[in-house]
Amino acid sequence: MHPAEAAKPLIKFNHCKKYIYSFSVPQCCPLCQQVMSSRKLEEAPVSISNPFTNGHQEKCSFLLRPTQGTFLRDYDGRSDLHVGITNTNGVVYNYTMHGVQRDEAGWEQSVSIPLLQPGMYGLMDQWDKYLEDFSTSGAWLPQRYEEDHHNCYSYTLTFINCVLTTEGKGQLDKGEFTEKYVVPRTRKASKYITLYRGIQEHGFYVTDCPEEETNPPEGSGVC
Ligand SMILES: [Zn+2]
Repeated sequence: MHPAEAAKPLIKFNHCKKYIYSFSVPQCCPLCQQVMSSRKLEEAPVSISNPFTNGHQEKCSFLLRPTQGTFLRDYDGRSDLHVGITNTNGVVYNYTMHGVQRDEAGWEQSVSIPLLQPGMYGLMDQWDKYLEDFSTSGAWLPQRYEEDHHNCYSYTLTFINCVLTTEGKGQLDKGEFTEKYVVPRTRKASKYITLYRGIQEHGFYVTDCPEEETNPPEGSGVC
């Protein structure tokens, strides 16, 4: 799949006391071959929300994607991840061994975490200047880059903490940020990837029901 290509919609329906996932509602249940009745409410398909977004359409957000390839096609749970922050025009600022990059493409399938609470227009007005000024400071020169200690993650987290300080709020350490904001979303993404690849391979994917569904809180910003 090309990164820019949209993922197929994914749906879930109930049959044979199982949850069955597929890309579209089949005429017959793939387990019992019975014709699916559209009249039974409990069999009505629901759509599964896609945990990935086009990062270039997100303002003032933290983005996460595999360093190589895409989540749906290439991610294996251990792949290296790369992170960045969008300005108000969807340009993704990210720190690599070549310094701060300003990407206008390549983040079409990202996990996105909004950094601003709704309605923070004052901060949004200043965002692009903050981000640009922060990125041109000497801390993020190419020669300062260190794979393990001074990397894309340090860059994004330091920026988030600068914004939090400006707002008179407390700092977030890496563990806290990861646990609170990143892990719930990557967990949801991993489940989605499993379903998606299962359906691609077999046409459908089955789980026992009822299954625990824990969704991270959406729409609330970090800063
Ligand atoms: Zn069935």
